[in-house]
Amino acid sequence: MINQERLQEIKKRALESHIPIIMDDTLEEIQKRLKNKPPKKILEIGTAVGYSAMCFSELLQSDGYIDTIERESERVEEAKQNFIYVGVQDKIHIYEGDAVEILPTLENVYDVVFIDAAKGKYPFFLNQALRMLSPDGIIFADNILYKGYVMSDYNKHKQRTAVRNLREYIKEATENPELETEILEVGDGLAISKRKVM
Ligand code: SAH
Ligand code: MG
Repeated sequence: MINQERLQEIKKRALESHIPIIMDDTLEEIQKRLKNKPPKKILEIGTAVGYSAMCFSELLQSDGYIDTIERESERVEEAKQNFIYVGVQDKIHIYEGDAVEILPTLENVYDVVFIDAAKGKYPFFLNQALRMLSPDGIIFADNILYKGYVMSDYNKHKQRTAVRNLREYIKEATENPELETEILEVGDGLAISKRKVM
């Protein structure tokens, strides 16, 4: 069991430092989706200081674990300390480096993939997630609506590469005949893709 008081401390500190941690309603939606079928293995892309990973660790089967990837070494160090502080260091393994390089080297099967890193890489992350997803696995992609930019005709923004790639993600996830995809307006937008039972 995770130390809730310490988790709340970490959350508060992350918010004060403007680290874009998972929003409460997004987390609730994910909790709801996983409650009836606790995952054994979760892959997270974008650890930051480990807040979402710590929250997900409570949703795991008793022998489950999380692999998570973060490229900023300061955040990696902070996340590692946080995992020890709340007592989940044995359940979460953090890979330090660029997910674009690390993902192709992973050979595991995951029940859940949580995509929450560079928006310009979302289509690549989707393909990597699909390569490693278990037959009844589920992929969550956070920030999929990106402050509403993705669904507006706004495209002169400096973030237009991100917006183009998020749109590409939605297109691929919804048009892939193997997947059933929902786009929810919780938080900053959450895409949920499940493999269809054929
Ligand atoms: N999942 C976290 C928040 C992640 S914020 C939570 O909810 O608590 C996004 C993180 O992804 C940032 O820390 C950023 O450094 C990292 N990131 C962005 N692009 C990345 C990449 N290509 N590889 C690895 N990490 C990346
Ligand atoms: Mg996010």
